[in-house]
Parts: sequence; structure tokens; C-alpha cells
Amino acid sequence: MTAPAAASSDTQASGPSGRHDRPVLVTGAAGFLGSHLCDRLVESGAVVIGLDNLSTGHLTHLAGLRGHARFHFERHDVTEPLPQALREAGAVYNLACPASPAYYQRHPIDTLLASTLGSWRVLELATAGRARVLQASTSEVYGDPEQHPQHEDYWGHVNPIGPRSCYDEGKRSAEAMCYAYARERGVPVRVARLFNCYGPRLMPGDGRVVSNFVEQALSGRPFTVYGDGRQTRSFCYVSDTVRALLALMACDWEGPVNIGNPREHTVLELAAVVRTLTRCHVPMHFSPMPVDDPVRRRPDIETARRVLGWQPQVSLAQGLMQTIAFFRESLARQPMAEHSAAAPPA
Ligand code: UDP
Repeated sequence: MTAPAAASSDTQASGPSGRHDRPVLVTGAAGFLGSHLCDRLVESGAVVIGLDNLSTGHLTHLAGLRGHARFHFERHDVTEPLPQALREAGAVYNLACPASPAYYQRHPIDTLLASTLGSWRVLELATAGRARVLQASTSEVYGDPEQHPQHEDYWGHVNPIGPRSCYDEGKRSAEAMCYAYARERGVPVRVARLFNCYGPRLMPGDGRVVSNFVEQALSGRPFTVYGDGRQTRSFCYVSDTVRALLALMACDWEGPVNIGNPREHTVLELAAVVRTLTRCHVPMHFSPMPVDDPVRRRPDIETARRVLGWQPQVSLAQGLMQTIAFFRESLARQPMAEHSAAAPPA
């Protein structure tokens, strides 16, 4: 797509140096990705305000920031009116939305509202406060793609009424809303299309393939493979994703940018790597493929390379080792029965 013209009201809240003149607002701050982002922002010297309704986020993810002079957390749902005081924020990372298919398909209305009403509230706030907005979008805007790998120019292949539509169409609406506010109100927007981010702080029981396979291997239960396991995903380690988000907020590019690891793996390959790394030789249990589950997914990251000078650095094995270590610790703290069943979404 053609990037909208640069907006005149851009206050350059976060320069390439990482300097932040005004506070940075992160919605979805207690989530898996949001909490890692807050860590890096505070580390970089920013004053950070984190919002989360704690529907899928956990305050434990933010334990390292508790009491920090430059971090403030507020429990707040982005679909509710945002406090006027938040207008002081010069940059907003809008991450608030459930992201695991198992969860968002159980809560389709909340999911849609987070991306539509929530993004509208964030963009209104940004208009009033002359802030820059980075919208966390997703590879799901490409649906079950007919083009491979997926380039940002591809318009996608989404079932608008299927069980994934609450997430896919919600995020597509959020993108549309961003560009409407860029064109009509001059809000500077950045759109990151994230591809299967994983790492420590994914939650056991959240239903994602990485969480399920790691938890299953560590507890000696069979891998729950949906379909024949030959569908593909491209897994991007969370530190790589966060680095890309910071670079995107700081850069001048206003078009959407794919953020993901271009190395593509089948679900069966992922299971094999988890098996090797955990040394837990659990069997495979096959069950039907969920409705509208994308068959292939791999990002074309030429835009990110060109405009951000970014590419992933962490290999799947390295990233999974960190993730496995995190799961070992959290499973030791909490017995398995306390985690919800990692059931297929549909
Ligand atoms: N999947 C699987 N077993 C699981 C969980 C997921 O085979 O226990 C598959 C799922 O059908 C999909 C892929 O793994 O093809 C990635 O699923 P995930 O929920 O992690 O994310 P998605 O990319 O679908 O949003």
C-alpha cells in the first residue's frame, strides 16, 4: 500500500536515539508482548504508563517494574473512556487485544471491541494529545493467504464471518482506523503486522502451539497436533519483535510493516524441535484442523530490513530454550491442574 503522507502534527515523541520527551503509553501492558515492551522502554529511559484490563494479561509479568519511578500501571479497559491525563503521552503503543486463537474465539465480542472501539479511543486520545500511535496488527490480516510469502501489498484472504474474524477483521478495522486518522486528522501512525511472536511469559494453557507443545513435553503428555501438522508458521522471538517495535515507532515510515521471522516451519517440525530441546519424547495426538486455520504463513520482511534496518537475530532453538526454561519455572510454581486445558479453538 502507499503510505499516507507524513503527518504535520508528529511530535517525534521517540527519536531514533530512543530519547522520549513525553511519557509513553502502552495499552495491553501486562500481556506477553506488552510487558516485554514496557521493560525495554523503561530500560531506555522512558517514562511509561501501562494500561491493561487484565483479561489475558498478568501483573506478575510486570513484577520487575513494580515501584519503578518511571513506570506507572493502571488497570483500565481501552474500550472505556480513557482518562484525559493520558493526553500527556507523546507516543502510544496500542497492543490491547486478546491474541491467542483459543482465547479470542471464546470472547469474540470483547476481541472485536478491543480492536475497534479501543483503537478509536486511542486515536482520539492521540489526536487531542498530538501523539504518535503504533498499532499492533497481525499476520492474521492476510487470513489464509493465497500469496506466499506475504508482502505488505497483499490485501489478504479473510473469512469475514468465520470464528477467527473477531480477531482478523478487528485488526483490519484497527489498521483502517489508523489510516483514516492519519489522512483526516494528521495523526502519525505506525502499523506493525506481527507474525507468531513467542518467548517467556507466554502462558501455559493459553492454547497457542508453542505454549501447548512446551507444556505438553514438560508434563509428558502427547503433542496435540491439529490437522496433519503440515501447516506452517514463522515464529519470531519476543526480543526480536520488541526491537522492531521500538525501531518502527522511531522511524518515518507510515505504511504497514511485517515483523516476523522469515524462517518457516511446519507444526510437526516445531514439535520435533521441542522434543529435542526438552529431551521429552512424547507421542503425537492428531485431531481435526480448526476452522479457517491458515495453511501457510511466512512474512516477506524486505520492508522491515529496508526502513528499520531490522531482521531477527534469535534462532528458533535459542528462543525455545528460553521459553522452555520459563515454562519449567512457572509449572514448578503452579501445579498443572491449575492451568486451563489447552483445547483447540473450534
Ligand atoms: N496448533 C496445533 N496444536 C496446538 C495448537 C495449535 O497443531 O496445540 C496449530 C494451529 O492449528 C495452527 C498453528 O499450530 O495451525 C499455530 O497456532 P497458534 O494458535 O499458535 O497461532 P495462529 O498462528 O493460528 O494464530
